[in-house]
Amino acid sequence: MEDCVFCKIVKGEIPCDKVYEDDQIIVFNDIHPQAPVHLLVIPKKHIKSIAVMNEKDVALVGQMVNIATRIAAAAGISAKGFRLVTNSGEEGGQVVPHLHWHILGGRQLSGELG
Ligand code: 5GP
Ligand code: ZN
Repeated sequence: MEDCVFCKIVKGEIPCDKVYEDDQIIVFNDIHPQAPVHLLVIPKKHIKSIAVMNEKDVALVGQMVNIATRIAAAAGISAKGFRLVTNSGEEGGQVVPHLHWHILGGRQLSGELG
């Protein structure tokens, strides 16, 4: 999608610090990390948010979670614990309207979720 910052990252028009890529998914470091480990898992395909994902995207979303857990383990945050979160819509705190999972870890995270 034009004017979507994450689509531009997928197309290589905006650089990113990539840690994983396959035919459907890329994972890269968040530009403003909120924890010692803060990665973003995104589909290459533009999906606005989890709220509007299509039934046919269920496998893709499952694979994003699968990749996220593997990347968390590779980043060394799996044993102590981490957070995997996706924001949806304005009141959900979503700023970039291209589906993404945040992987956060490497410090004690707040118990509050909002
Ligand atoms: P949201 O609030 O939409 O769930 O999170 C968007 C995230 O994307 C934020 O944590 C923000 O720092 C990150 N972000 C926004 N623009 C860029 C960018 O151009 N590059 C990278 N690596 N992260 C970005
Ligand atoms: Zn997009």
